[in-house]
Amino acid sequence: MKKAIYCCEEHVDMAFDDFLLEIEETPDLMKVDKDTSCDYCSEKALYCLESNFSIE
Ligand SMILES: [Zn+2]
Repeated sequence: MKKAIYCCEEHVDMAFDDFLLEIEETPDLMKVDKDTSCDYCSEKALYCLESNFSIE
């Protein structure tokens, strides 16, 4: 299973912190072009932080 966090411009720092706390790996930062909302607010997500490895 892959871990992914969607975030808007404003919450990208927060998403990075959460990712590092939870997964303890630096995520890949990718641009999101589909219609997805931020995991922290209701804004449209601009970025997706995704693990580049599998989580058991
Ligand atoms: Zn947000």
